[in-house]
Amino acid sequence: MSARACLTAALDAARDWHSALPAVSVFCPWPDDLKWADHSPTPGPAIALVQSNPGACIGAARPLLAALQAIAEDVEWRHSYTEDEVGRHFLDTFGWFELAGPTGHFITHQTRITVGYWGPGLNYPRHQHAPEELYTVVSGEAQFMADGEADCTLHTGDTRFHASNQPHAMITHASPVLTLVFWRGDGLADPPRMTT
Ligand code: ZN
Repeated sequence: MSARACLTAALDAARDWHSALPAVSVFCPWPDDLKWADHSPTPGPAIALVQSNPGACIGAARPLLAALQAIAEDVEWRHSYTEDEVGRHFLDTFGWFELAGPTGHFITHQTRITVGYWGPGLNYPRHQHAPEELYTVVSGEAQFMADGEADCTLHTGDTRFHASNQPHAMITHASPVLTLVFWRGDGLADPPRMTT
């Protein structure tokens, strides 16, 4: 299959996931302005890790995980953070890409859909951003923390909402975590910033 065909299959799997999780369908409608954008793939350490160690995955997440593993070599991996902010080990075991959004493999201005992978034993420091986001866990597990809320550990199919500029953080322990994240609101193309 061509990269475009694989990415389209992954987008279809993300759409199925969007309709399977009530919290996600409520958070944002599926975009109706999606257009293919021809981004070149960029290498990243997450390619091999997503394929070899995605973490535990059950139920409706399995086809989505398979579709994301299939496109790992075809996507534009990004890091957003510097070594000063998060450390070398973090950058060597983390990566994210924009499946759909203002700068994604599929362009839409209605939402943003990103995929993020964190290897085991990572501390994602407190950060914030203007758009609201809804994390969904595809595989693995992570401990989520947000100002004003109790910590919780999320697994396949669990979701977590972060309000506009609500500082939040995440820790992975023995397991990695693979997430599909939906965004809405102003500033969809802006990078997150560390909370000071
Ligand atoms: Zn966030």
